Amino acid sequence: MSDRILVVGAGIAGITVSLGIAQAGHEVFLLEQDKEMGGKGRLYACKATEHCQECSACLIAKSKTKLVHYPNIHPLPYSMLTGLQGNPPHLRASIRLLNEIRSDLGAETSLEVQAFVVATGFQIHHPEIPEELGYPVLKQVVLASELEPVLADPQKLNARFGRLRRIGIALCIGSRDERPHHANYCSRYCCAYAQHLVRRLSYFYPHIKIDVFYRDLFNIRSEDIVSNKVKLIRATPSKVFSYPAKTLTLRLADSYTGSLMEETYDLLILVPAQKPNNHLALDFPQLGLGLDARGFYLDNGQNKDQVPGVFAAGSCTGAKDIPETITHAKGTVAQVLYYLDKIR
Ligand code: SF4
Ligand code: SF4
Repeated sequence: MSDRILVVGAGIAGITVSLGIAQAGHEVFLLEQDKEMGGKGRLYACKATEHCQECSACLIAKSKTKLVHYPNIHPLPYSMLTGLQGNPPHLRASIRLLNEIRSDLGAETSLEVQAFVVATGFQIHHPEIPEELGYPVLKQVVLASELEPVLADPQKLNARFGRLRRIGIALCIGSRDERPHHANYCSRYCCAYAQHLVRRLSYFYPHIKIDVFYRDLFNIRSEDIVSNKVKLIRATPSKVFSYPAKTLTLRLADSYTGSLMEETYDLLILVPAQKPNNHLALDFPQLGLGLDARGFYLDNGQNKDQVPGVFAAGSCTGAKDIPETITHAKGTVAQVLYYLDKIR
């Protein structure tokens, strides 16, 4: 017998969960506040050089195209959860339609579902605080995510920023940082991301020198990044100045010695932390979504207050890269199917 499942969030975790549950014959309602399915990851550009770099970005597009093959998946774009009544397997969800600026259009629908999956992903750390990094005031300081549309067509890089000779890439922006508004943990995706980014930039722009600033490395080796054009520097940008004309001067603090150095760049790319996106825990306490010390949803099975039939999938349970997110979401599918089997 077919059950109905509501999945909130249509990033790669929500899509993977929806496909897995739909394959088992159940009906899935996939709710997304944005117009497009695919979450933040859908904006990532392919990082191929002459070879595929296995950056996983295309897995999102491939998964999205599979959604249309399942008539039992109902994507609900521009939609927001506004109310919940009861508990799984008799959970009634109220859903409102939004317009493109996320204003409420006033149309409401309601669904009874047997299980509920939270797949709300993460928020990107915005490094306005501290303002010393010059973001977003200086146009030569950008978030990596803002550069992604340009990377899809690398010829656009010079068109947007002028002829670049030196690029700085700052990792761990907001991650591994105990200050308020920062994330005191590793965001897990960004070292490998930087490796792919550096190779893509070096491939299309072999004349550009790239310095990568880091606090630590996760899941890669320094030789995965370093080349004759790419240096790895264990230091953190502490201040960015807008000089000389049309360039940036970075003051860097050496992570070992604390000594300061200054270098000049044409462009600084900030690779920011993944931070929790946990508003459903506050908006709907009846879901029993506990939070861990970092503010992410507790993982399935780790939450002593977990409500049967309520599950979390992907990076809403902790910072993850795309493959980890998919693996976690597949694990959630197995738990949901086990639960649905049990209630029959
Ligand atoms: S998006 Fe990434 S995994 Fe896909 S083809 Fe391009 S480099 Fe390879
Ligand atoms: S993955 Fe790398 S860049 Fe990202 S927070 Fe961890 S150590 Fe820093």
